Amino acid sequence: MEISRGLPSVGQTDADHAPPGGAAAEQHALPGFEAVARLATHALGVPLVALLLGDGSTFWYTPPGQSGTLALDDTLLAACRRIAHHGVAEIVADAREDARFLAPGTDPAHATVGFFACEPVFGLDGQRLGVLFVVDRRPRLALANGEQAALRDAAALAGTGAALRSYLNRIDPSTRLPHRYAFFADLAAQLAHGVGTAWLTAIEIAPVARFNAFVRAMGHTYADALVRATAERVQAWTTPGMQLYMVAPTRLAVLLPGAHGAPSPARLDALVAALREPVDCLGITLSLQPGVGLLEVEAHELRGGDPLRRVMNASWIAMGTPSGWTVYNRSDDERQRQEFFLVTELAAALSDGTELELHYQPRVALENNRCVALEALARWRHPTLGPVSPGTFVPLAEQAGLIRGLTDWVFDHGLAQLAAWQREGLDVRLSLNVSSIDLDATLESRLAAAARRHGVPLNRLELEFTEGTAIYHNELTRNALVALREAGVGIAIDDFGIGYSNLDALRRMPASSLKIDQSLVRGLGNRRHDAAIVRAMVALGHELGFRVVMEGVETASVLAAVRDMECDEVQGYHIAMPMPAAEVAGWLRGQAARDGASC
Ligand code: C2E
Ligand code: MG
Ligand code: MG
Repeated sequence: MEISRGLPSVGQTDADHAPPGGAAAEQHALPGFEAVARLATHALGVPLVALLLGDGSTFWYTPPGQSGTLALDDTLLAACRRIAHHGVAEIVADAREDARFLAPGTDPAHATVGFFACEPVFGLDGQRLGVLFVVDRRPRLALANGEQAALRDAAALAGTGAALRSYLNRIDPSTRLPHRYAFFADLAAQLAHGVGTAWLTAIEIAPVARFNAFVRAMGHTYADALVRATAERVQAWTTPGMQLYMVAPTRLAVLLPGAHGAPSPARLDALVAALREPVDCLGITLSLQPGVGLLEVEAHELRGGDPLRRVMNASWIAMGTPSGWTVYNRSDDERQRQEFFLVTELAAALSDGTELELHYQPRVALENNRCVALEALARWRHPTLGPVSPGTFVPLAEQAGLIRGLTDWVFDHGLAQLAAWQREGLDVRLSLNVSSIDLDATLESRLAAAARRHGVPLNRLELEFTEGTAIYHNELTRNALVALREAGVGIAIDDFGIGYSNLDALRRMPASSLKIDQSLVRGLGNRRHDAAIVRAMVALGHELGFRVVMEGVETASVLAAVRDMECDEVQGYHIAMPMPAAEVAGWLRGQAARDGASC
């Protein structure tokens, strides 16, 4: 026990009493204990007050200036525990002779406890919750009537605090629903005494980002009211024996009684339908996008708080599904864990930089076989996982808010390389992939800053946006694109033909090139491939004033087919594989020699 002179010493220990399921034992302090103990020390003139509760937790108090002279040491604590076990009032006027208060082998002349009294502590419903102790160094004759009354009053107040604490330890104050620790305690109890398995249902009220947006816009009162309204709908769905819990700020869970089994699909559809009904919350109507997850738990799976994590994993996935509910699936879980791992590793790789690299793939003009541009493609070699494809890590970076870091890294390294090639006398353009998330008012200045840093003219650069950018573009993104074009930067619409472009939006994109997606190109030249669609796309691109590029030209027959379609430029394995920077100069010189052209 920590001892401090001059200040009151207040302490609390929780017994070996972690909630089942392994969740951290974040028990509440005992409301009002310090005030009660201070009053008791004044009224009784004692230097130590202690409270032992039936759940094993212990609280103690010594007034200022008294600390250190009498401590709740192991011997005293053991004596208190033994006495608390009987739970009855007791006064020991001279404790020096009482073996319970003497450490084994201690001479009574050196006894530290002289006087001892205790009073049982009851909860609001009369249930015995623990015992309150007062201890003095010197023996006393007895307690005066007023002192005895003061001890009883202190015990009564401690009982109120203990009742409040146990309420706080179970009940979420906003929804008045039992919370996460209660959920684990009840789940463990059910698995121990029931049929050995239990079905859990978790309800994700709304994506956390959206929920936080509610809080920012409307305040906590509104968010609390929204959660309560949702909880009422879930409560209305439950049947007798099901218990609803508030397990996290945006998550509810239902524990189904042991014999219940999984809810039927129709019942789950009904729950999702009820939750998707617009909510009128404090006069504002809004619709939620809930997710309902299901999990069957067995007793041996309780450790580590894992059941809740797993069922919430299912409810999170369910948010993005048409039905809005799903049963826990181990492979989805593994995938999400892997993604989480990758995101943290990618963040580290971005700050370190040594695992990332750019490869470059040439794009060639059909009219003269010249290399029009080199497309920079990010490569990530993880130290244990090996190469991770950009098709995997770029979308993750977008979801995890890391894409700006990646884009800035690509700008910096790509432009440094371009500057190096320029110094070698290679006059190439560089094409950089950019996420639509990057497309805002700062993009032009980010690129311009990198160009200045490396002494590269902006008209040697091109940015590639995917077709989706055209769909979602608005006045703001259009202005950002126009600013880039005016600065001389080329704009390419990447992966065209697989999204659902709004042709009007496409027409208004200030782009210079249209890159037709490789999935449409790869099969050209074999008889079953519908070349008419690609041909129409080429015509459309030309009509809109773009240069048309074919991606994914893998074979000579595809190259022949696209030549026939009068497209402008080609890129693909048949022309060149993406290659490390060190191989680029050799390839460019070889190409110039092969075709009598130079880049
Ligand atoms: P993309 O921009 O459409 O890049 C072309 C992809 O097709 C590259 O895949 C390239 O290696 C591959 N490819 C090139 N020629 C052929 C071919 O003939 N046949 C086939 N089957 N594939 C070919 P990669 O490097 O795996 O990149 C995939 C996507 O990841 C890129 O598609 C791009 O959208 C994204 N990406 C790559 N690097 C970056 C980056 O630095 N930033 C951003 N935002 N996205 C990037
Ligand atoms: Mg690209
Ligand atoms: Mg592409």
